[in-house]
Parts: sequence; C-alpha cells; structure tokens
Amino acid sequence: MIKLTNIFKSYRLGKEEVPILKNINVTIEKGEFVAIMGPSGSGKSTLMNILGCLDKPTAGEYTLDQADMLTGKDNFLAEIRNRSIGFVFQTFHLMPRLTAQQNVEMPLIYSGVKKKVRREKAKIVLEKVGLADRTGFKPSSLSGGQKQRVAIARALVNEPSFILADEPTGALDTKTSEQILNLFTELNEEGITIVMITHDKEVAEKADRTIYIRDGELFTEEKGELINA
Ligand code: ADP
Ligand code: MG
Repeated sequence: MIKLTNIFKSYRLGKEEVPILKNINVTIEKGEFVAIMGPSGSGKSTLMNILGCLDKPTAGEYTLDQADMLTGKDNFLAEIRNRSIGFVFQTFHLMPRLTAQQNVEMPLIYSGVKKKVRREKAKIVLEKVGLADRTGFKPSSLSGGQKQRVAIARALVNEPSFILADEPTGALDTKTSEQILNLFTELNEEGITIVMITHDKEVAEKADRTIYIRDGELFTEEKGELINA
C-alpha cells in the first residue's frame, strides 16, 4: 500500500546539493507494523516528512493505496494527508490552550465536520486510548504518557489508514513507553498500518519488521548482517 520508488532527497547548502536520502525503495503492506531505525542524522525525519507528504523528494515516486502522492495539486494532497495519515511526534505537538477533547477535534474542524459529530468522534477515540476521564484537561495537567495518548487519539480521529510516528516514545520513561507501544500494537491488531521511526533497538523490537537507515540508505537484516534494501 505504501510504496516508495527511487526516492532521492537533497538540500541546497550554498552552491552545493547535499544528498540526504539516496535511492530509497520500500514497500509497506496494509496492516504491517514497521519500525524504521537509524542513528541521529541518518535521515529518519526527512523520510518521515516525505511519507507524511509534509515535504517532497528531489526525485522518485510515492504511491499510497495506488494514489500518486507527489504530482497532485497541493490542496488534493493536503486532503489525502488529512484523511489517510495520522501523525504522532516525540514532543506531542498539542495545542497548550486547548483541552484534550478540543485537541482531538482539530483535524475534524479542518475536514469540516459538524460540532456534534466532532464531539462524539473525539469522545470515542479518547475513550479508546484510555482517557475518558481526562477529556476536559489541558496538556499542562496531563502526564507525558497521557499527552501522547491525546496525540494518538488526535491521529485516530479521522480513521486514517496509517499512522506515522516519529520517535513516539523518545520523551517518555521506560514504563510509559511500553504502555504507548502496547497501544500501538492494539491499534495495529485492529488493522491500522503503523510506521514508527526510532533510534532505540528495544522500541523497534515491538514492531513486526525493522528497516534500517544508515546515512540516507535503507537496509534489511539477514543472518545478523545489514544488506542493502
Ligand atoms: P534524523 O531524523 O535521522 O536524526 P534528519 O532526517 O533530521 O535525521 O536529518 C538528516 C540529515 O539531513 C542531517 O544531516 C541534517 O542535518 C540534514 N537536514 C535535515 N533537514 C535539513 C534542511 N532543512 N536543510 C538542510 N539539511 C537538512
Ligand atoms: Mg529525527
């Protein structure tokens, strides 16, 4: 369902083109839970931004459920992005002045969903992530794990076909991380595709498959060795 073909990304630095992603080829099937693991600076966030249609590659193709994600008009892509992809970030990216309920309703406001339906949908996903009793709380009154649950509820509210998580446990302690990863496993078992970026081996082990990224290139592990993907 998610297919990247010959993806290159470079940044212009003065007169120079600095290559960051170098010929990325990967297919992720519907229903997979995949970890993309690599050290700091290897290109993980750059890859995530391309997968999330937040940035475009310098060259290559990207299809999501057969739809071309690169050549469409920007408003069309924003629409697919809002409907198909749920984002989860290391630092939660919640709106501090809004309650958990209001944060979760945000993507529905962008989709033009009516207030009553928004309220109901947000309640359902907040309940799903175990925060039924925290809907009226602002982020500052929630723990790190609870904030990440709000962010996950917000990612779920548009019923996305996949969740893209960049270091989702990076700001959490070990026990809380485990709870968040268990939540991802549950969601995955319900059929949501999950792509999780991490630099932590223990975190990656929770996924069904790990893809390695080193210096902008992808690798898979075979018999304990990394081979070019
Ligand atoms: P990771 O998430 O794995 O730590 P990134 O994808 O953030 O890595 O960055 C990969 C490389 O690309 C780094 O060397 C970083 O300095 C460079 N880079 C990232 N974003 C930009 C940008 N907007 N302009 C120039 N270089 C960038
Ligand atoms: Mg990063």
